[in-house]
Amino acid sequence: MSLDLDFVLTTDRCLMTNHHGKEFIGFMATGPAVGMPEPVWKWMACPKMKVDEHGRPWQAPYGMRKVEAALQDAGFKAAIIDPDHIGKYLKNAKALMFSHHDYFAFGPPSSTWWAITKKEPVNYKSFVSLIRRPEVREAKARGVKIVAGGPGVWQWLWRTDLAEEVGLDTIIDGEGEKAVVEIAKKIIEGEPLPSYVYVGAEDAPSVDEIPVIKGASVNGLIEIMRGCARSCRFCSVTLRPTRYYPLDKIEQELMVNYRAGVRHGVIHSDDVLFYGASGIYPRPEPLIKLHKLVKKYYKTIAWSHASLAAIKYAEEKYGLISKITEIVYEDGNQNYLGVEVGIETGSVRLAKEIMPAKSSPFKPEDYPQIVEDAFRIMHEHHIIPAGTMIINLPDEREDDVRATIELVDRLKDYRSILVPMMFVPLGYLKNRDWVDRLKLKESHVELYKKVFWHNVRWAEDMLSTFYLRGPLYAPLRMTLKLFLRYAKRQMKRIEAYLESKMKQ
Ligand code: SF4
Repeated sequence: MSLDLDFVLTTDRCLMTNHHGKEFIGFMATGPAVGMPEPVWKWMACPKMKVDEHGRPWQAPYGMRKVEAALQDAGFKAAIIDPDHIGKYLKNAKALMFSHHDYFAFGPPSSTWWAITKKEPVNYKSFVSLIRRPEVREAKARGVKIVAGGPGVWQWLWRTDLAEEVGLDTIIDGEGEKAVVEIAKKIIEGEPLPSYVYVGAEDAPSVDEIPVIKGASVNGLIEIMRGCARSCRFCSVTLRPTRYYPLDKIEQELMVNYRAGVRHGVIHSDDVLFYGASGIYPRPEPLIKLHKLVKKYYKTIAWSHASLAAIKYAEEKYGLISKITEIVYEDGNQNYLGVEVGIETGSVRLAKEIMPAKSSPFKPEDYPQIVEDAFRIMHEHHIIPAGTMIINLPDEREDDVRATIELVDRLKDYRSILVPMMFVPLGYLKNRDWVDRLKLKESHVELYKKVFWHNVRWAEDMLSTFYLRGPLYAPLRMTLKLFLRYAKRQMKRIEAYLESKMKQ
């Protein structure tokens, strides 16, 4: 049975999945299969999503849900369809719309894995094979329009060969809820399409213009605000205006997920502690109300991102991390809270240069101490961070990497996973051999080795105390434990080899 659709929205399996309900496992899809066959790796990272009789996924990426809602609210026949079911719709559809946050694996985690292993990441292969499917080619030949959007849409500009191959008509770059409706009108009316639409700050939708999602989002993710006032030099989020969703709008999306049977969710913001903030100062009242509301609907929750300075400030000024975690843990359904935090660097010099406001309201001179204090606060409150770092910035010096290595040492007793990612200068992407041109310095290798043993220690701890508990997760837990054992053996071999080389 199929629906009558003019607009088919889809993405590849690496995003049309809920990663077994564990967002963090999604990181695996940004790498190639290591130590196991690719199908097993893919099953671990991105299992198939449950679909209804029409091929509509149970959960879909949140950003796609927004675009789907915008099109449906404007009266278009549009729906998100699982990639395995698009064939039957493309026979009659007018447009195929892709979304992705990392179309061609140029994003920091994917490009880092790619540069280190020299192997194409799973997500790259998965998306390229989707656009090369016969049903996509046949649809294009029949005149179906192809539109791409999402946070990774800029990557098409560096893979014009693939844009040409698939017959890409339009790129929508930026917050797409209003722009996609304009493009859809043109498609229905048979008007020519612009090849590139940029949505800047002045065209971004207001809170009222952002639609409420109509179907469940992956892992119950719900957005609470957009924008970030910290203005880090390497970040595009900061170009967006700050907008807070009112609680009733948040509740509507929680209800959509709840009605679909979703009981676990992620609160999404580029800094969750900025919800209802005064500038960069977190405020207790909106955050407490927000967490009470979310826990009314979800048994367990995670934060997408939080900034380290905000964690330190909120706890030291108001005891707010204690108050929030009390709310989150009090029903006994969860005993830890996951979050991604941007450490970026341990170097004060670099911190001042690329992200002077990241430490606010504290001084950038104290940045390493801010990071350590925030990690201690999180450890004490069972908040488990994945801390990302950036290496290989154009003006990075040896001393900067050394400072980051020292910081990793200071963080060793705090439960966390650390993720150093390589900065890829955009100019590199012009050349197909960009991966070969990325070279790790000796100090980078030292940093990766230190981070590896930090991560193994805490991954083992988490697997035995917090993460993937219960019989349902037993196969996944077992596979991850075997993988850790394999990775440790490999790393010991590499270290022995490097040591013997140095002695020669
Ligand atoms: S704090 Fe994070 S979201 Fe905000 S500007 Fe810096 S990197 Fe971007």
